[in-house]
Amino acid sequence: MKIDILTLFPEMFSAVTESSMLGRACEKGILDIRLTNIRDYSKDKHTKADDYPFGGGVGMVMLPQPAFDALEAVGAKNKKVIYMSPRGRILDEKKIKELAGEEELVILCGHYEGVDQRILDYWDAEEISIGDYILTGGELPAMVLVDSVARLIPGVLGSGESALAESIYSGLLEYPQYTKPREYEGLAVPEVLVGGNHRLIHLWQFEKSLELTMERRPDLFERFLSEHAQLEKDEKKVLEKVVSGKERQK
Ligand code: SAM
Repeated sequence: MKIDILTLFPEMFSAVTESSMLGRACEKGILDIRLTNIRDYSKDKHTKADDYPFGGGVGMVMLPQPAFDALEAVGAKNKKVIYMSPRGRILDEKKIKELAGEEELVILCGHYEGVDQRILDYWDAEEISIGDYILTGGELPAMVLVDSVARLIPGVLGSGESALAESIYSGLLEYPQYTKPREYEGLAVPEVLVGGNHRLIHLWQFEKSLELTMERRPDLFERFLSEHAQLEKDEKKVLEKVVSGKERQK
């Protein structure tokens, strides 16, 4: 997948392009992340990229000219253009899956008070937010989006990992995980996990996932119930046990 990121602060992205799994995916060419410094396209003699807003108000707004030219240079007219924005639709699993299906993405990062509206209108940018809070710029949100989308691209995760088994993607929150040693500071790993019976391990993990999801995310739990009616016999029993346990507590 090719991703063009337009920003005033390209140096921030080394965190994504040079380390860990995304760094390796970039090295292998599975991910092609290209950074464009919007300021490089400014025609102003002081390479100005922002100015005061018309109508007054605090802060600065990113100018149309440098952003238009930068978008033109990456061929954005025929591509999916995203503007990271707290006004946008909140990034969720559905949107991430949809974006992972694109071959090319162009991501525009705002800064200061944001960008001139004409940029978004002309380039038909979809506004996407990473949550109901305000950050100083679109760079961190863009990294969140790239990381979450990239994990779904075949070859980005190691062979032993599957994005589909993670919390949320499976429809449930993930069960508790343990590693060595079997006992630490008097705290033991649940016996079933070291017993070697894979079916029992699976059912224990499923039960813990159900319990956690029901307690912390009743919205996801309700959705799971309505969308996963086709469970195997043993799993159905586990589900009934978890639901009836909850009923008794009421
Ligand atoms: N004045 C804007 C407003 O009230 O909607 C906020 C501007 S914010 C300080 C600067 C930039 O950070 C935004 O243009 C956007 O690109 C980015 N940003 C901030 N919070 C964000 C969020 N929750 N999700 C996505 N992008 C965000």
